Parts: sequence; C-alpha cells; structure tokens
Amino acid sequence: MRSFAIRRTLLAVVAATAACSTLPAFASKDKPVIGFSIDDLRVERWARDRDFFVEAAKKLGAEVSVQSADGDSAKQVNQLENLIAKKVDAIVIVPKDGKALSNVVKEAKKAGIKVIAYDRLIFGEVDAYISFDNERVGFMQGEAIMKAKPKGNYYMLGGSPDDNNAKLFRAGQMRALKPAIDKGDIKILGDQWVKDWLPENALKITENVLTQFQNKIDAIVASNDGTAGGVIQALAAQKLAGKVPVSGQDAELAACKRILQGTQTMTVYKSLKAIAENAAKLSVDLVKGNKVAFKAEKAEGGINQILLDPVVITKDNMDLLVKENFYTKDQLGLK
Ligand code: BGC
Repeated sequence: MRSFAIRRTLLAVVAATAACSTLPAFASKDKPVIGFSIDDLRVERWARDRDFFVEAAKKLGAEVSVQSADGDSAKQVNQLENLIAKKVDAIVIVPKDGKALSNVVKEAKKAGIKVIAYDRLIFGEVDAYISFDNERVGFMQGEAIMKAKPKGNYYMLGGSPDDNNAKLFRAGQMRALKPAIDKGDIKILGDQWVKDWLPENALKITENVLTQFQNKIDAIVASNDGTAGGVIQALAAQKLAGKVPVSGQDAELAACKRILQGTQTMTVYKSLKAIAENAAKLSVDLVKGNKVAFKAEKAEGGINQILLDPVVITKDNMDLLVKENFYTKDQLGLK
C-alpha cells in the first residue's frame, strides 16, 4: 500500500534546489505552486514527509518548491520571503519556532498566499493547521512508561522549547502520570527541554542527571526517538540501558531496532504518508477555494485544524510498520 525511498539529505537538497529553479513564473489555480518550508532535515522523519508530500502534490497537479532551514529560524524567515517573492499559491510550513513567523505569515497573507502550518502550530494568521493529536502522543508515552515502571523516580525530557508540540507532548505525559504522582507512586525528579531536539543535547542532559542522582533514576520520559537515542547512550555508559524504561516517537529505524533489542520501551508511529497526503490535498483545496472538512474544535488562536491519530508501537506490534510499508522486515531484522 505504501512505498517510500530512503534518500540521503544531499540528494534531497539537490532535488529541492532543482525543483526551486524550475518554478513557473506565474502560477495558476489549475496547477498551483506550493512552497514547502521545513525546519530541519537532520531529523529522519522530515525527509520522508517531504518525499510523500511532493509525490502527493504532483498527483494533484501541483508543483512543490522545498526549502530546509537547517534548524535556523532566521534562515526560515528568509526562505519564506523568497517564496512570497516568487508568488507561490500556498506555503506549507514546518516551523522551527512557531512564535517567530507571525510577520512573514502576515506578508504572505497580504500577497494572497494560503498558509498552512504542518505538524507544528504557528502563532499567526495561518489558514490551517494539520498535525497529529500531539497531546495524545504525550499521553501514550507517559502511559507506556508507567506500565513498564508503575513506581519510582522519573525524569522528564521535553522537546525543543520553541516547538509548540513539545508543550503538547509534555501536557499529555503529565496527564498520564498525574494519578500515580498524586498517589505518591511516581516521583518526578526533574524536567528539562532539549534544545533543537538534538540527540547530543539529550545525551549531555542525561549524563548530568545520572551523576546528580547517582544513577537512581527508574524511568525517563523522552519526547521523540532522536532524543531517546541520546538518553539510551548515556544509560548504556552506566550499564543501565534496558533497565530504565525510555519512551520515544516517530518510529525511526534506529529506535525500532532499540525496541526490538529491549533498550527503548516504545515509540509512536505517525503515518507520514497520511499527514503529507492530507496536507497536499488541503493546500490545493484552499488554493482552489474548495470546502475543507476541519475538526469542529479549533487549535489555539482559533485556527482551523485537521488532527490525525497516532499509534503506539512496542515489541509486540512492530509488524504493523511492515504492514504499513513503513519498513520492510529486512530493515527491522524481523523474520
Ligand atoms: C514532531 C516530532 C519530531 C520533532 C523533532 C516535533 O514537532 O512532532 O515528530 O520528532 O518535532 O523534529
């Protein structure tokens, strides 16, 4: 049902540049031109979001110009200004910093361009926000770790502080843990945010936390697979990998392998094909003025939203990723 190709970032950048230079001078509603501005291709998922999005948009008769900001908010603003100058019909944005784009979004709106926040909310005049139920992602993480370690000392590792999702994940995690905290079964030793979602930052934080608490940590709630990788590296250095439950999300290949080996407890699978296809359709519909079925409940700031469902993945249902064509059995090392 689903197919994908893992491509190297370099190839992606070349493709993106090529796509950019072949944009028609004037876009038309029948053949809309969409700018896709991505925060950071260093995180595995975004390259797949990009590939699925470009493929889906093409099928709908649209052209896409992909830009990666390499985790740099100022660079993202610049790239967005370029897309506005090119008079694209719609801009789909994975914001680095959801609070830093309100001016450039205003400019885009003035130029008659539809603006869609992809996966992460943007605080500004965007036309729509499409994502997963991120509070639920956090709840799933908290719930799974609690199942693995119902009592003990927990440490909370959030995502990047400038990513609105990081706050939603934390809210969901705390909602799951609250009853056990109130009962006194779980004690939160501390919490920190991992700047830019970088695994090396998660590694450093975990090393320090393990030293601070003399390794007396029973569980770590990490907010995605990349940061979970850093956490598990720090645990492994203290021979604690596999003993301390760790959560994640994104179903990154390395994380799935860690789950099968027993050093990571769970991940959350979010169908990137589904969000990319829905976002491509949403963009084209907005450009053409078609009616869109949004969720009745609006996102923060009164923004129209579409939210997709996340799925918990553990050792027991890893084969779902094969059924979804997200990975082959071979890639996962399954028989
Ligand atoms: C996304 C996650 C991703 C993280 C780091 C979040 O906003 O929802 O899927 O792991 O950003 O890129």
